Amino acid sequence: MSNLAGRRAVVTGGGRGAGEAIARSLAEAGAAVLVAARSAGQVERVAHDIQRAGGRAWAATCDVTDEASVARLADTAAGAMSGVDILVNNAGIAMSAAVHSTTLEDWERVFAVNVRGTFLCTRAFFPGMVARGWGRVVNIASTAGLRGDRYIAAYAASKHAVLGFTRSVAAEGARAGVTANAVCPGYLDTNMTRQSVARIVEKTGRSEAEALEAVLAVNPQRRLIAPSEVAAVVRLLCSAEGASINGEAITIDGGELRR
Ligand code: NDP
Repeated sequence: MSNLAGRRAVVTGGGRGAGEAIARSLAEAGAAVLVAARSAGQVERVAHDIQRAGGRAWAATCDVTDEASVARLADTAAGAMSGVDILVNNAGIAMSAAVHSTTLEDWERVFAVNVRGTFLCTRAFFPGMVARGWGRVVNIASTAGLRGDRYIAAYAASKHAVLGFTRSVAAEGARAGVTANAVCPGYLDTNMTRQSVARIVEKTGRSEAEALEAVLAVNPQRRLIAPSEVAAVVRLLCSAEGASINGEAITIDGGELRR
């Protein structure tokens, strides 16, 4: 399937986890992909793998919280691909704590990556999409963007903010052939979830197996969601056939929010 041939994509947080799967999937569908994150080794590995498989890819180190770093990412994209049609704002961090033990620093760190980063990258690439009359912005939010829960106030608030931002970008791009959507996964089989399990072990003294069971219990299918499942939905949103899906928050959660 090469329905993205000729499209040029930027994937933030593309060095591992969901972002890596998204970068690989877009490249398989024919898009040229600029893979961005802070860890040079990780983004270079993903870009090299894509190149070895016959795709077009570049790696860029970027801290999405930093305006100057995002400006450099935009310069790199302009130099490599002379325009960006698809932006996947996947870079994100999580933290868990009760409200009373969430520090202002925790709060601002989570918002800096999840919200400010999504805004800065969108501001860098969305105007070019509007000017060219075609574009896709896909923001990786979370089921925590649609509901709150204990110990995730900062993370849930940041992902709710991503949804409000997404809907506004969707409205601004609608007449110009640009869509913006959010994807809201449940617990993924990635490093972030491994860290969540480790935190539960540390804070509650439960075994790793018990902590994992608590995480799995959130999903009615009792399993972690594969990054490739997120990538498949992103790929659909980026395709020509995704043109009428705009301003949505698409859950990929095994039914977590429908119980
Ligand atoms: P990982 O921790 O495995 O990957 C996160 C990616 O984001 C890494 O590539 C990381 O690279 C990058 N990143 C983090 N901070 C920055 C930054 N300041 N600038 C640039 N890149 C950054 O997490 P996942 O793959 O699990 O998460 C991907 C997305 O999916 C996130 O937005 C997350 O909130 C969301 N999500 C995850 C769920 C889960 O269960 N894991 C569930 C629902 C949503 P580096 O550190 O090198 O910069």
